[in-house]
Amino acid sequence: MAQITLSNLRHSYRPDPADDDDYALKKIDLTWDDGGAYALLGPSGCGKSTLLNIISGLLVPSEGKILFDDRDVTALPPAKRNIAQVFQFPVIYDTMTVYDNLAFPLRNRGRDEDIVKRRVTAIAEMLEVTGMLSTRASNLSPDNKQKISMGRGLVREDVNVVMFDEPLTVIDPHLKWKLRSKLKELHQRVRATMIYVTHDQTEALTFADQVVVMQDGEIVQIGTPVDLFERPAHTFVGHFIGSPGMNVLPCEVKGGAAFFGGEQVALEGPAGGAADGKAEVGIRPEFVSVSTTGGGIAAHVRKVADIGRHKVVEAIAHDSRIHAILEGDAPNAGDAVMLDFKRSQTRLYKDGWLASRPEGDVR
Ligand code: ADP
Ligand code: MG
Repeated sequence: MAQITLSNLRHSYRPDPADDDDYALKKIDLTWDDGGAYALLGPSGCGKSTLLNIISGLLVPSEGKILFDDRDVTALPPAKRNIAQVFQFPVIYDTMTVYDNLAFPLRNRGRDEDIVKRRVTAIAEMLEVTGMLSTRASNLSPDNKQKISMGRGLVREDVNVVMFDEPLTVIDPHLKWKLRSKLKELHQRVRATMIYVTHDQTEALTFADQVVVMQDGEIVQIGTPVDLFERPAHTFVGHFIGSPGMNVLPCEVKGGAAFFGGEQVALEGPAGGAADGKAEVGIRPEFVSVSTTGGGIAAHVRKVADIGRHKVVEAIAHDSRIHAILEGDAPNAGDAVMLDFKRSQTRLYKDGWLASRPEGDVR
């Protein structure tokens, strides 16, 4: 196993890229620590598969280097990189049994049959497919085929990294959550570096210890699920993570204070040197409280959605839509209310990037 470093990486699918827009990956510098559970999260087309294929060697980057520990593997073909990759759609041999499919990556490397048997048995147990070992793969449901595909990725003990590229796409929704938690458990047992690619925040946040968020060929933030929730580095992360996402409200900065529709909004702490002018205030719906009597920003309720565990209130203030998540009683549509933002969770964003700092942070 190894630490994987991507250094000054850029990739264009065009023969003669001119500006940044011609690059599927604009500039990536990133280190994946040995044994980590990572998710690579971002919308479709942001460059996730491109990045994965560069790590595995299916693609050679236009610029930059890939290091496994201190070894430069940029020019090495996939077979020489000692990695396992699981794709969106099952890659298995239909004519072989499940056992032989799982054994293939080991036999291919000349491992002894007793080792093959031990590993295949262990992986089959983890994936709960022991009863299918002698079934021919062509007779499996798509779900089970993908499970076997994942098993083939996990069966070798000596890989540098196991990479999953949206592996649950073909899995039935009711099985998804089960496989997701299974993978997490497998990581804890196997302790290999794993990179899990998805456009689904729930999949990313349940699997990973560290989430790498991408947008338009660039990394916007790397952090724990809690970091991404509490301190989105960019409004994109604020929107993309959470349900509903962070409220991002237009504001005016004057002398280090933020004004929303002319009313001052108390920020978590210093405005981080944000210059006077247009900026945005970010506050998650979880930290907006709604009352009819208290202080705050006057608003009117447009909609209330009861989604079981809690209610989502959609209110309008100064022509902006603001969501609030409430656990208990909620107002009704049409009500006049006051909105209060939890100060320690009220962030300032300038040009999309987080500017404010926690209270007491005087850099
Ligand atoms: P993701 O996996 O995040 O959906 P991709 O890495 O597949 O994104 O794609 C990133 C960008 O590169 C997209 O704009 C996509 O259209 C483009 N792209 C991907 N593969 C190719 C290819 N083989 N040839 C040309 N363009 C490609
Ligand atoms: Mg992809």
